[in-house]
Amino acid sequence: MSLHLTDVTLTYPDGDTRLTALDRVSLHVPRGNVTAVVGPSGSGKSSLLAVAATLVTPDAGTVTVDGADTAGLSRAELAELRRHRIGIVFQQPHLLPSLTAAEQLQVMARIDGRSPRRVRGRSLELLDAVGLGEQAHRRPHQLSGGQRQRVGLARALMNDPTVLLVDEPTSALDHARGAAVVDLITRLTHERATATVLVTHDRTHLGAADRVAEVRDGRLRLLPPA
Ligand code: ADP
Ligand code: MG
Repeated sequence: MSLHLTDVTLTYPDGDTRLTALDRVSLHVPRGNVTAVVGPSGSGKSSLLAVAATLVTPDAGTVTVDGADTAGLSRAELAELRRHRIGIVFQQPHLLPSLTAAEQLQVMARIDGRSPRRVRGRSLELLDAVGLGEQAHRRPHQLSGGQRQRVGLARALMNDPTVLLVDEPTSALDHARGAAVVDLITRLTHERATATVLVTHDRTHLGAADRVAEVRDGRLRLLPPA
């Protein structure tokens, strides 16, 4: 199972007219695959992730997650789908200043009513997987930018998602740290069999991705392998 976008068109109101952010975009990402998405600022990359995340409903086209066509789902069912099957990593990790790295991962799962012991065990396992096993009780200000980004990545994996959506995770990092985060995302995608879409504006990080797609003016095309 996987993520399927078929003929997705998304427009936003723009004065008296509408702006086309996504223009008949089709993309199939199988599990265990990282598809990197590049393109200039304003080309529609974040809109693509918002539609894939089911946070925004497109004007036309279909989004299928794990075989379920999201068009037929109610708001509550969509929220449920996001909670169980979709992991999202934003440009800035938005960590809560007063919580430790482990607690950042635990808070949503606790709200969800899962057993505190299992939630704790899973949070520590994931921090280990992103190389932060020793930093589990540090708070955000005691972590570097790259480490904070990795906490955000581990948090997105707490619900063992099918689909992992990552928006420009390297924008606030220097080149070496950015490359390390992209390599980590690729390794975790292969290990945990997520269908991953990784938006990045830094083309030098693309080596690790399984495939590269380019968005321009809302149109998406897969680039031939380098
Ligand atoms: P990118 O992530 O590639 O920079 P976006 O998907 O954020 O591109 O934006 C694509 C286009 O849609 C841009 O022209 C942007 O200004 C516009 N846009 C994005 N979000 C909104 C919104 N909520 N309302 C109106 N226009 C938007
Ligand atoms: Mg963007």
